[in-house]
Amino acid sequence: MAIPMIPQVNNMIINVKNLFVYDINNIIYTYNDNLEIEGYKIITSQENITIEYGSDKGKFYGQKTLEQLLDIYPHKIPEMVIHDYPNYSYRGFMIDSCRHFFTIAEIKKQIELMSLLKMNVFHWHLTDDQGWRIEIKKYPLLTSKGSIRKQTRNDNKEVSGYYTQTEIKEMITYCQKRYIDVIPEIDMPGHFTAACSCYPDLLCTKEEIVVAEHFGILPNIACAGREFTYQFCYDVLDEVCALFPFDYIHIGGDEALKLNWLTCADCLEKMKKENLTTPEELETYFLNQMTTYLTTKGKKVICWNDGMTCEGINNNIIMQYWKDDKEHTTLAVDQVAKGRKTIVSPFKNYYLDYNYGITPLKTTYNYQHPFDHDLIIGVEAPMWTEYVSAIDRLEYLVYPRLLAVAERGWTKIPNYPDFIKSLHVFQNRLHSMGINGAPLSAVNPFFLKRWLLRLSFYGSVVDKNIIKSFQLLYEYKKKKRLH
Ligand SMILES: [Zn+2]
Repeated sequence: MAIPMIPQVNNMIINVKNLFVYDINNIIYTYNDNLEIEGYKIITSQENITIEYGSDKGKFYGQKTLEQLLDIYPHKIPEMVIHDYPNYSYRGFMIDSCRHFFTIAEIKKQIELMSLLKMNVFHWHLTDDQGWRIEIKKYPLLTSKGSIRKQTRNDNKEVSGYYTQTEIKEMITYCQKRYIDVIPEIDMPGHFTAACSCYPDLLCTKEEIVVAEHFGILPNIACAGREFTYQFCYDVLDEVCALFPFDYIHIGGDEALKLNWLTCADCLEKMKKENLTTPEELETYFLNQMTTYLTTKGKKVICWNDGMTCEGINNNIIMQYWKDDKEHTTLAVDQVAKGRKTIVSPFKNYYLDYNYGITPLKTTYNYQHPFDHDLIIGVEAPMWTEYVSAIDRLEYLVYPRLLAVAERGWTKIPNYPDFIKSLHVFQNRLHSMGINGAPLSAVNPFFLKRWLLRLSFYGSVVDKNIIKSFQLLYEYKKKKRLH
């Protein structure tokens, strides 16, 4: 009989021939200040189970591993010594609540599972072109208007919803009890259509627009020349900082199509005044201004890597590496070598919204990043929801791939065959929690099935608006050259 595997454990000595009857009420907890900050030890003997810990967090993780052990050994526990601590200090999962809205209860269920996987960061994507989801008291239109999308790709179905500040506090408390930090993302200057639809002065053109009803990279970004934009962002960040007590704030910085900036009088004047020569330099200036502001409030800032291509970008911004083409990877490797703190989220491997034909479980698990291990702070799996409208579908795509990312965040020596064995046990736990994970038979599809899944995904995603995004991007590059 194969030895059942315990997910995500480092340094385990196990003797399965020596099984003890255990008493769950007889667990001894001992503080051990030699242990790592998130580390713990579990020692089983004939008499009792001991958990040693170096911090409350370590104690919590020891309990979580014990829970998993008891799933595998429901009656007798083997003789064992485990000394465990994580591979990375940042182990994250992101949910996009903008493209589709998920209730607090639906999200809490995912948080519960994250805590079992010893993940410690919930990155909450709260603002985007297709909906603004966080209550900001100073700008009430953001939720009364900006949270409502009349339809999506001509389906005549309204998508709406937002989180009140009270609900956000409730979520934060829930996460804190599970040693999970919540990082809000207020995406800027791109992905700003919902905000611009409420306050047209944020747009270079000042035109009246609606919350975006289709997907792709949109040109309705914030005007980086106008003082109102800066004040608006500072005001929003004031309320966000007051709500979220954690170290990090994410300000996006991704996919900003700077077409309007090329001709906006305010943007051009700002560039002249600050001695900036390209829209990319203006973007860097904008992100740096936000970073300086947040730093004075004691926060650390995270940005996606595609917004961080200019030399002058603030050295303290933490880079989230998602765009992994050759050009961006070369830049990212250089940044990391120079000491930039980085979170690894390559979209071809860790973006869980792609189906299993595009990203099989094995592709997620076996990913090797191109950076020096010691300079990486962690890993994160984002779940974007443009094409995921219900929680059941979200769960189907997230599990078990999130377990793969969690394990790579925790385990020092990854082993895919062992991981698969542990998943068989873990599937029962997912079912008992009412989570609609994909069956293991579906997560590594064979060749033909893989291609069919790919075709079905791209066939449903590509529409005239996505094509228009590429045309606008091309137009931007062309106009920039002429400038
Ligand atoms: Zn402008």
